Amino acid sequence: MKKKAFKAESKRILDLMINSIYTHNEIFLRELISNASDATDKLYYNALKDGNTGLNRDSLAINIKLNKSDRTITISDSGCGMNMEELENNLGTIARSGSLAFKQENEKRDDIEIIGQFGVGFYSAFMVSKNVKVITKPYGGDVAYCWESEGAEGYTISECEKDTNGTEIILYLKDNTEDENYDEYLDEYKVKSIVKKYSDYIRYPIKMDVEKHRPKEGEDGEYESYIENETLNSMVPIWRKSSSQLTEDDYNNFYKEKFYDYENPLKVIHSSVEGTATYNMMLFIPSKAPYNYYTKEYEKGLQLYSNGVLIMDKCSDLLPDHFSFVRGLVDSQDLSLNISREMLQHDRQLKIISTNLEKKIKSELMLMQKNDRENYEKFFKNFGLQIKYGLYSNFGMHKELLQDLIMFHSSIENKLVTLEEYVSRMKEEQKYIYYVSGESISKIEQLPQIELLKDKEYEVLYLTDDVDEFAIRILMNYKEKEFKSISEGNLGLESEEEKKEIAKKSEDNKELFTLLKDSLDGKVKEVRLSTRLKSHPVCLSVDGEISIEMEKVLNQMPNDQNIRAQKVLEINANHPIFNKLVNMVDTDKEKLKSYAQILYSQALLIEGLSIEDPVAYSNAVCELMI
Ligand code: ADP
Repeated sequence: MKKKAFKAESKRILDLMINSIYTHNEIFLRELISNASDATDKLYYNALKDGNTGLNRDSLAINIKLNKSDRTITISDSGCGMNMEELENNLGTIARSGSLAFKQENEKRDDIEIIGQFGVGFYSAFMVSKNVKVITKPYGGDVAYCWESEGAEGYTISECEKDTNGTEIILYLKDNTEDENYDEYLDEYKVKSIVKKYSDYIRYPIKMDVEKHRPKEGEDGEYESYIENETLNSMVPIWRKSSSQLTEDDYNNFYKEKFYDYENPLKVIHSSVEGTATYNMMLFIPSKAPYNYYTKEYEKGLQLYSNGVLIMDKCSDLLPDHFSFVRGLVDSQDLSLNISREMLQHDRQLKIISTNLEKKIKSELMLMQKNDRENYEKFFKNFGLQIKYGLYSNFGMHKELLQDLIMFHSSIENKLVTLEEYVSRMKEEQKYIYYVSGESISKIEQLPQIELLKDKEYEVLYLTDDVDEFAIRILMNYKEKEFKSISEGNLGLESEEEKKEIAKKSEDNKELFTLLKDSLDGKVKEVRLSTRLKSHPVCLSVDGEISIEMEKVLNQMPNDQNIRAQKVLEINANHPIFNKLVNMVDTDKEKLKSYAQILYSQALLIEGLSIEDPVAYSNAVCELMI
């Protein structure tokens, strides 16, 4: 018999498993029981599809056998089993994304404790075993196979005898060491407690022979021992229990085990709904975005059960994209078991459920925002981007639903605030919701445009994510208050008096502005007197739809459109440079040209844009210095 090597990535995980001195190796049992349960699910589902409704759940039990003299644990199921090809594919490589996620996560961390929190699958058997045998016969097949491995060295597969379909996994426990006592897994009490802890909700009976004691008949005070084949798990799926029966730990453990997270969820939404659709749901909002959340690899969806039987692992129709971070499951008796994916899309019940879920998630998030701000902020830091994308996508179709969930950093509060909070404390005469976009809070704080608004004690929202300004523009207004970029158009800050003064000054200096504009050779749409500067000499503002931040974002995208904001160079009339420029109109037009270039370059640098000819700029500045 030829020994086959494991596929490369499997070998690496195996090495990690085998060589880690690891305190939670008890999870091997959870993994093998889950596999047995999945295999039984598959059989049950396939049998029903074939019209075989005679299956009895009790006959589908998962059995655990402990053999102290051989030091073996045997876990057997009457599930779908595996044929030769499946054995090769399933146990010779790693197919599951959970295992892959685990692998990638571990490349980043040395923290070995984390392993046990993941679904590490079949390979975890090697944490406690020196030899693993898998004897399996596929449902409907004639031949049984024995897969055997001692770990990293590889595995063999041979034909063997087995009467019934299903899989039997025999673990030959490792020898005890000074640090590890593997014999504890031969202890009934220990095994019972592990099953209870991790696998209580498994919907098939997990049975084991347990030694019990009873008073001996007719002999007072004497006890005899007897063996009882006990069902160790309570089998009621956790989501069918009422929340009063469950502790926070129950929810946390279930979530971590089922969705391969190593952190507790930030929020649990658990309820049963009766009405036009009847279902149980248990939803979780993770504490952290999964490593691949903002990539194409991330797959949204909820598990879909029909009366306790899994019919789809990631039902994406149940979740809108803007709530794609939600994990969890829905169990409904209204759905037929052998419903196909295509039919599911058109299922009326499913549509009702998904609409309800969307509303429920929104209302739970709003509650969290109101009553548990700290966690809401945590949530928003992880998933706020997704909500903002949701706002922007489909031409703002979901803006009503999502606008109250978003937050931005506030210039006054110096923390994240909601639009509702902003509007509720607007000044009486304030017309607009002011915002400014930039790369980071600290960069925005340095923008010249911000000074005057701060001075006048207007609150400004800082937009630091690429999508922010696009989302705000789709929103257009909130509670009838228009959004206004502080780098754009008229901010409505001046009194009538001031307005007149500015108009006059602009008129008087028409020639200066024209000269400056011409010197800049079409780079700006206009040069004008600023109404938004306090102490700084210049800034850029824009006319039209595209802001400077949007220009940056759009030009990062892989297309050849060269989208440009219509830039306006603004000059502060209260800055000494202004008078100098005014004088130059009559005295030195050449110098004025050079000043125009320098001021424009400065305005570009302040906005975080690059200047076309840094050498020329540097030379022009040096000229002034010498
Ligand atoms: P996962 O269960 O997460 O897919 P595992 O490494 O635990 O990953 O198992 C790999 C595959 O082996 C499973 O997906 C399944 O197809 C198969 N398998 C494991 N245990 C059994 C079993 N008891 N009966 C049938 N197939 C099994």
